[in-house]
Amino acid sequence: MKKCALACLALVLLVVGAVLWYLARPYYRDALCRRHLEEICKASGMYAGDFDEVYPDSLRRLVDYGIDPALLTCPAADIPPGALWDIDRWSGYTLVTGISTKSHPSGVFVYCPPENHGGRCGHVAFVDAHVETLTPDAFEALLAERGIATGPEEPPPAP
Ligand SMILES: [Zn+2]
Repeated sequence: MKKCALACLALVLLVVGAVLWYLARPYYRDALCRRHLEEICKASGMYAGDFDEVYPDSLRRLVDYGIDPALLTCPAADIPPGALWDIDRWSGYTLVTGISTKSHPSGVFVYCPPENHGGRCGHVAFVDAHVETLTPDAFEALLAERGIATGPEEPPPAP
């Protein structure tokens, strides 16, 4: 009888652990994405120190500079690193170009859109290397305020 109770308790604990892990998984991926963005900012700051204070203008330059390509993928997007020539497709991150060490610290440098996180939140890394997690509405509003287009490009007007 005592063995049965212990087995039942172990089974219940196993199920509870599996459910908790399943529920916590998106938040773990959010935290990992934020860490990737922080690492991208750190590497970009070092890159700028070596290249006339100008931040890299593409993720590919960061790979050439030595950053691990695995850090350039959003863990929530479930897209494994692919060929470097195709990095913008599989990365999940978008780099804002024209950034230097003289840019305003609150300028957006790199972001991860809410689509990568099931529409729950987006992450934005700023020039001063801090990362914020924003609701989808706040994310869109911030990027619109900064004049950064996130949607698909509009087709050219018909002649
Ligand atoms: Zn992400």
